[in-house]
Amino acid sequence: MSSAIAPTGAPICVTCGTQFDSSWSATHCPICEDERQYIGLGGQQWTTLHDLRTGHRNVFTVEEPGLHSIHTEPSFAIDQRAFLVRSEEGNLLWDCVPLIDDSTIAEIRNLGGLSAIAISHPHYYTTMVEWSDSFGGVPIYLHEADRRWVQRGGVNIKFWAGHTKCLFGQLGLVLCGGHFEGFQVLHWPSGAGARGALLAGDQPQVAMDRRWVSFLYSYPNMVPLGAPAIRRIVRSLEPLEFDRIYGAFGRHVMSDAKKVVQRSAERYLSRIGAPPLGAYAEPDEQLVVEIHVRDVEASARFYRTLGFQLLRAEHNFAELLWDMSRLFLEGVAAQPEPPGTVIANMRIMVPDVERYWRMVQEMGLHVARTLGERDYGLRDFTVVSPDGLGLRFATRL
Ligand SMILES: [Zn+2]
Repeated sequence: MSSAIAPTGAPICVTCGTQFDSSWSATHCPICEDERQYIGLGGQQWTTLHDLRTGHRNVFTVEEPGLHSIHTEPSFAIDQRAFLVRSEEGNLLWDCVPLIDDSTIAEIRNLGGLSAIAISHPHYYTTMVEWSDSFGGVPIYLHEADRRWVQRGGVNIKFWAGHTKCLFGQLGLVLCGGHFEGFQVLHWPSGAGARGALLAGDQPQVAMDRRWVSFLYSYPNMVPLGAPAIRRIVRSLEPLEFDRIYGAFGRHVMSDAKKVVQRSAERYLSRIGAPPLGAYAEPDEQLVVEIHVRDVEASARFYRTLGFQLLRAEHNFAELLWDMSRLFLEGVAAQPEPPGTVIANMRIMVPDVERYWRMVQEMGLHVARTLGERDYGLRDFTVVSPDGLGLRFATRL
């Protein structure tokens, strides 16, 4: 039974399955009000675990050795599946379903109990605290970036930060971002006959055509993710070995899953008019000038005294950085003496051109054009590098 008034006891939102603190007296669910979710057509409705237990049950299905899925029947709220991943070092509940009852607890005890819980993203936090309490307060691992979405807190919730977190039994959490800032997947290396499996929750989302996956900001409201998020997800999954993906809705990619992710990301990027994965370089690597110089060390020294940062120095090669821009120096012994005139300028915007002007004068460097106000709206000067290139330092007028 559901009601529009939040019941006493810890209320559960009927649309998303999120359980709130018993003290929750508001009439709305922040998870459903977020643009990734929606409020049901009949308005905000609430229920309780007590009511959910009458008329619903959890069904355990063996997906492969060491892995059970847990699904509530008849379906409730978002209708996702949770998974019990078994290992010799303990069992992990991946994602969560709102219903937890005596027969669920007995079934899990039969399968070796529970050592920890980890959940992909806030839509599946549901009754995680009840689950943890039912197994002696096992830790619940959530990513720090989604802390603000927790509606019912508890001492058992362990927020972690960073990109990866090792659990037990070789299980590991990997931060992917995308659907939620703190979205995490579970890597299970011994899954799929030791070829590795990914428990992905909603992302990558296994498509109706199981040869494909997709990535959305909102699934119910069909809002896409942008290209940077797609590239980040692919980059996060790149170091992992996996052949299989288990999704939250009973759809799984049974083999070749890593290639499926790659192929699907390429298709997605192409449909939104973004450059393909392989062709893309980060913004600071898109266009880099490479200068041929007679003496790499002397040239690198010159650039560094002016404020460039040395990123890398190898035999006859140096990589320099100015803010977000890179500059390559390549040593070419046969490079002729620079001509008397400057053949090209590199313009460098600085907040205080006077300071650079004083520095250049103190160092007695060769100046091609002295400091002055220009009709193109800049105050600038040009200093000449040992290789005949002009560096035009400028500040807006
Ligand atoms: Zn809700």
